[in-house]
Order: sequence, then C-alpha cells, then structure tokens
Amino acid sequence: MIDRLVVFGATGDLNARYLLPGLAALRAAGELADGFQLVCAGRKDWDDQEFRNWASEQLDRHGRPCPASARMWVAGAARYRKADATDPADLASLIGGDGPVALYLALPPAVFPGTVTALHEASLPPGSRIVLEKPFGEDLRSAEELNRLLSEVVPEQAVFRVDHFLAMTTVQNLLGSRLANRMLEPLWNSAHIAEVEIVWDESLALEGRAGYYDGVGALKDMVQNHLLQVLCLVAMEPPLSLGERDLRDRKIDVLRSVRPFTDEDVLRRTRRARYLAGRIDGRPVPAYLDEDGVDPKSRTETFAEVELHLESWRWSGTTFRLRTGKALKTDRKEVAVRFRPVPHLPFGHTGEALPNVLRFGLDPEDMTLALTGIGSGARTLTPLTLTARMEPSDLPAYGRLLLDVLRGNAALSIRGDEAEEAWRVLAPVMSAWADDLVPLQEYPAGSGGPVPTGGSARRG
Ligand code: NDP
Repeated sequence: MIDRLVVFGATGDLNARYLLPGLAALRAAGELADGFQLVCAGRKDWDDQEFRNWASEQLDRHGRPCPASARMWVAGAARYRKADATDPADLASLIGGDGPVALYLALPPAVFPGTVTALHEASLPPGSRIVLEKPFGEDLRSAEELNRLLSEVVPEQAVFRVDHFLAMTTVQNLLGSRLANRMLEPLWNSAHIAEVEIVWDESLALEGRAGYYDGVGALKDMVQNHLLQVLCLVAMEPPLSLGERDLRDRKIDVLRSVRPFTDEDVLRRTRRARYLAGRIDGRPVPAYLDEDGVDPKSRTETFAEVELHLESWRWSGTTFRLRTGKALKTDRKEVAVRFRPVPHLPFGHTGEALPNVLRFGLDPEDMTLALTGIGSGARTLTPLTLTARMEPSDLPAYGRLLLDVLRGNAALSIRGDEAEEAWRVLAPVMSAWADDLVPLQEYPAGSGGPVPTGGSARRG
C-alpha cells in the first residue's frame, strides 16, 4: 500500500467535498496509519496552517458523519505546498523523496496534458500511480493524446481514471443483484427486458459552477462518463471474476456493441435542452443564460437524453435510455429496468397487469421491484411494490476509490481503451449537436424537462 498522497488542485471543490472527507472515512476505518503523508498542492499563497484551517472547515461541512477525531487527524496531517501543476521543477520538489507516491490530479481537465507532460520531466519514483478525474479529455482525439502522454510516464496499470459512480454502493449492488442471485440472470436479456432507463435528473441548477459547466454541458459532464459506466455494469456479460482484467474486458464489450449513430439516429434518438427561468421548491431560479459566468451566446445544454441500442445476442431489441438534466422539478436518480408484459392473462380479472419494473435507486440508494398481485378477496389486479433499503456503506464512494488507488486495485478505474471507446460512442452525437443539427429545446426551471419531440426533429 502506498503511504504518500499528493493532491494537485487541493484548494478546489473536489478536494473539499469528496477527497478530504474520503480520507477522513479511511482514517476512521483504520486504513490510514499515523505515518501516512498527505501533501496538498495549490496555487494559493497559503502556508500549512492556513490550509489546515480551510481543510477543517471543509471537513466540518462535508465530512460528517466521520468522527471529529478522524476529521481533525486529516486536517492536521496535511502539508500545503504552493505549486504550478504544469511546472516540472515544482512537480519534482513535490514528488521527490523515498518510495512511490500517488498523485491525484484534482485539476481542471484542460490542465491534465500539461501536468502529465511536466511529470515526464520530473522523474516519478518507480511504483507511483496517477489518478485522473472525469472528463478524461474532451473528445476522442484528446483522450487518445492524453493516453499517449500517460503511457510515456507510467505503465497503464498505474493510471487510475476514476469515476466515483462505480464505487457507489447501489451501482456495486447492480453486480451483486445480477451475479449473486439465480433469479435475475435468466431474465436479463431482450426477450424479457423492453427498456432500461439510466437517469440522473436533479433539481439543483448551476450552483455557481459556470466556470466548469458552461464549457462542458450535460452530455460530457454526465452521460459520456457516469451514465455510460453504469450502462456497462447493467449490460455486460457476467465476468469470470471481478478482477481488473475480467471486469474491464466485459465493460468494454458493451461500449463496442453500441450501434453507431447515423445522422438520422441522432435526430430521432437524442434530445438536448437548457433551462429557462422558473421556480424550484418556491425558490426563483434564473434562466441558464442569465446565470453568473455563463457566456450569453452559450449553446451549452443542461439536459441531455440519448437512446442507445446494443448489437449483441443478449440485447438486440432492448432500448437503453440515458438521461440527465439540471433544474428539474424533482430529483430522480435511478436505473429502471422495465420488463415486457406477460404473454397471457387468465380471463376473469379486472385491473391492469402493469409491466414489472426493477429500480436501483442511485440517490437515495435503495431497490424496488414493482409487481402485480391480486387484491384481497377480489378478482382485481393490484400493484405491489417490494422495497429494500441498502445498509449504509462502511465507506463513501471516494473513500473506496482512494483506498483502491493506495492499494493498487484498478478494477473500478477505467482503462485507457475504455475511455476512448466511451468517446467513440458519443462522437456522432457531439458533432451533430455542435453543428446545431438537433434543436436546443428549452424548459422552465422546476418543470419536468423539455416536451418530447416524438422524434420529429429534422435537419434544418
Ligand atoms: P475547481 O475549479 O473547484 O478546482 C480546481 C483546482 O485546480 C483549483 O484549486 C485550482 O486552483 C487548481 N488549478 C488550476 N490550474 C492549476 C495549475 N496549473 N496548477 C495548480 N493548480 C491548478 O474544480 P473541481 O475541484 O470541481 O474539479 C477538479 C476535477 O475533478 C475536474 O477534473 C472535475 O471535472 C473533477 N470532478 C469534480 C467533481 C466535483 O463535484 N467538484 C465531481 C467529479 C469530478 P485556483 O483556485 O488557484 O484556480
């Protein structure tokens, strides 16, 4: 296990909200020994104490329910260094020392290539690991180039392209439900499943993140990484093991099986939109274009939906719908697996046998199964719902990811070819949207999203 972690971009939102609390959870779980070294690097002109004060505040805000002792230990263990993450001399002074180091690039994605190039010059101790956040590149070409740069610095096994969705309990439970039960796997195919929806709808609007979001948009922020990763776990063939090679080979098969989008498909099977002014829970929300920091000429979408079809023996005939949106009326974050209707209903009952739906809640983390039964004493078909609450996880997703990095377990990180394949899947959509071939719809903040176009969009 590596016992030295350097976080670049340590004064940013990711470190405040997820990495520091993840480390506190690891300390509370007994995974970080007293000798663990945490170096936090940023551009602010702070000393150790100023950083520790800031880190304590962030841990108090985001690190509960970790015990105060673990939070205080993390803040106290951190050493702060001012550094430019693209300067080889700054990097060399940070990573020098004995033994391997884990480098976490909590940096804007545009900085990754400069940092990796600088790391090439500042020699990295053998056995070191590099962690990169999503989005990995901004298109296929830049992802290929980033992979090439990384391959000059460390071997592929030492690159951790993390996606915290994969470490969420309920996403892990997709694998548990599928692979540790006899009941589901025989039904897990297009003969029985009509549609799978993977949805991350949120009532949160931009919340001050224009600097990052306006250059990215919903498709690249959520669909290209988090939602495609969840798709892989839903649709992959059972792997031989959950080891890194078996798991990642099966995931990439799913991405390779996605039917390539034609222009016509993009028009009929994708939607994009952005929010107008409205109210959410009685609170006024400005139109996206009026949010602080958004370019008034922006064409960035805050809602994205794509319908995918997998060309494989198992899935030919099932629709996979991936959707995300901001500033919507309600939060809906789930994987919904809709089964086909029963082939025959005996006569004599009233009511409707609604198709079964198995839902994996992503937030809150729970699981429900919608069934149809017969109402007591009557000959009426009645909906029944089975609900399972998930046990609270011992570690938050970022705690688990950090532990995997320190231990060198890459199973939940994304391999280079997989990262490229994910861009390849959506490249035709990105290109058609950039050319405005698909209309940018609008929806009031606090509504259910844009009205369906019924596939009526056409090339202008
Ligand atoms: P922020 O903009 O909040 O933080 C980025 C940090 O990087 C800042 O501390 C910034 O310093 C620093 N930085 C920028 N350029 C350099 C440089 N050349 N040298 C040293 N430091 C630099 O971004 P986030 O923390 O939100 O995001 C970081 C990464 O994590 C991104 O890749 C993002 O996509 C990813 N991510 C973020 C999530 C989140 O919820 N925040 C969730 C999932 C992924 P300064 O303040 O001086 O500009």
